[in-house]
Amino acid sequence: MSSSCIFCRIGSGEIQATIVLRDDEIVAFRDLSPQAPTHLLIIPTRHVASLDRAEPGDAALLGKMLLVARDLARKEGIAADGYRVVTNSGPAGGQSVFHLHLHLIGGRPMAWPPG
Ligand code: 5GP
Ligand code: ZN
Repeated sequence: MSSSCIFCRIGSGEIQATIVLRDDEIVAFRDLSPQAPTHLLIIPTRHVASLDRAEPGDAALLGKMLLVARDLARKEGIAADGYRVVTNSGPAGGQSVFHLHLHLIGGRPMAWPPG
């Protein structure tokens, strides 16, 4: 836990967020500035700065985060039409909060490639 990290503080419950799932390793909550009708963030409660900083021992956690994203897409009712799961890593990748997170985005059509 990093006391200066906003997602650590959301994970610990110190900062309020609209939590949609919590277990012993992962928290999912609604993005404060949603880019689509469904926009959830899926984080490990343990501080990992980015995908680039993940280690081999994080493999099971990373896989679990993806399956949580899949399950939440179904729960949100966006799985049938399709959705996007993305992680931004580093400044050029568009990362602004340096605690690993998956964006689960759906509920509208999306373009590719991203800008
Ligand atoms: P990134 O740019 O790092 O990939 O994504 C960070 C995301 O976190 C952004 O979509 C931003 O809207 C969201 N965010 C930043 N601060 C907060 C916050 O305090 N609460 C919530 N729920 N989302 C946040
Ligand atoms: Zn953190």
